[in-house]
Amino acid sequence: MSTALTSDTVVAGPAAAPAGSFDTINGSVVSVIVNHDKCIAGKGCRVCIDVCPTDILAFDIADGKVKMVYDECWYCLPCVHDCPTQAITVEIPYLLR
Ligand code: SF4
Ligand code: SF4
Repeated sequence: MSTALTSDTVVAGPAAAPAGSFDTINGSVVSVIVNHDKCIAGKGCRVCIDVCPTDILAFDIADGKVKMVYDECWYCLPCVHDCPTQAITVEIPYLLR
């Protein structure tokens, strides 16, 4: 299922983000990191959004990027395995490895 975002759904930007270009939710760096240089969402790809069982990935119409929008990841990884450009990294918490 594809989900459209409004710009206030995700807190991101120079004031909230650490050095680099990580997406954030409420000021915290997300655990599902999309490399926007590799991501082809701009060409219509929505594979990760479609395979995520928790619907936490979405296309942000404000900036044209796919990103994590809810901190509810199950660390199940189909988003990583099915991404055609290997653009996604999931930071699995140490205690779950
Ligand atoms: S599957 Fe990969 S390339 Fe496609 S939208 Fe998701 S992160 Fe981008
Ligand atoms: S690891 Fe699973 S729950 Fe987390 S974003 Fe990927 S598909 Fe969704």
